[in-house]
Amino acid sequence: MIIVLKPGIGKKDEAAVLKEIRRLGYQPHVMRGVARTVIGAIGDERTHKSLETLASWAQVESVMPIQKRYKLVSREAHGRASTIDVRGNVIGGKRVQVMAGPCSVESELQLMTTAHAVKKAGATILRGGAFKPRTSPYEFQGLGEKGLKLLAKARQETGLAIITELLSEQQAELVADYADILQIGTRNAHNFQLLIAAARTGKPVLLKRGLSMKIEEWLLAGEYILANENPNLMFCERGVRTFETFTRNMLDLSTIPIIKKESHCPIVIDPSQGSGRADLVASMCKGAVAMGADALLIEVHPNPAEAWSDGAQQVSLEGFATLMEELKPFIAAAGRE
Ligand code: PEP
Ligand code: MN
Repeated sequence: MIIVLKPGIGKKDEAAVLKEIRRLGYQPHVMRGVARTVIGAIGDERTHKSLETLASWAQVESVMPIQKRYKLVSREAHGRASTIDVRGNVIGGKRVQVMAGPCSVESELQLMTTAHAVKKAGATILRGGAFKPRTSPYEFQGLGEKGLKLLAKARQETGLAIITELLSEQQAELVADYADILQIGTRNAHNFQLLIAAARTGKPVLLKRGLSMKIEEWLLAGEYILANENPNLMFCERGVRTFETFTRNMLDLSTIPIIKKESHCPIVIDPSQGSGRADLVASMCKGAVAMGADALLIEVHPNPAEAWSDGAQQVSLEGFATLMEELKPFIAAAGRE
């Protein structure tokens, strides 16, 4: 910890702080500047009492940690990028994986049509919501287990792996019985009990960034997955809430280099929730891939105008095929496959 004293603090007040640091089991190192005195307190914070209480002392200006609060998700914890194998599709490896499919599973015909089309265009993982976190209780809430069964059928027919969302701890086992990747949505990114339940299923977890989540909070939410003995975590940026109204959310592509620097876990980009506009999806995908995204999560629908959820942001089957072609030079430029 770094303890910064207020300007002009006398010897006696400084000595009291040093005494308290020693009493709590740390070794203080004093650095006297022109205006301020800064104290470095060395010791293992896991075995000693926290020094944060010093922040309330009258002579102390601030108390700052030296170590990061997230440990298991941190890059240092692993040393290199980790990879996640989902039915033979490696996320975080050389290949940029594309997860595509409808926002919601609506019917067998809709899902199978989409699954075959996205597979043909090069996607390896099928997305589709069976339990939908809708803003209004009067909107379509998803087909539930029937939707999960359709996803499993699509996997059997196409060989695509499945990603789908769970909304509650009670659903964890059920969804894990069907899914290859569990999706934690933006609205639940801070639901720690759900994160723990998802982690304990042992299935890979895709953790969306909360609507107004700081990157540190997101990393700490991810820490819950790894701290519960599940190493297969990927972060997914899907845009954050801002003042802007041209787009539904503001897709924060700076998270790609930041997550890569701070964490060993793969980073996935969702340009669909991230923009709310089908006409922006291809551009955002190109930018994301060029910046080193490990995977994309894209909403695709056979008839977006008739979609039961998120119609404005879903690309058509033809639009998706074109997008996948257009992505090729960007994937190559990023040194990926
Ligand atoms: C979705 O993927 O359809 C979804 C609801 O995502 P988010 O949690 O990012 O809004
Ligand atoms: Mn959606």
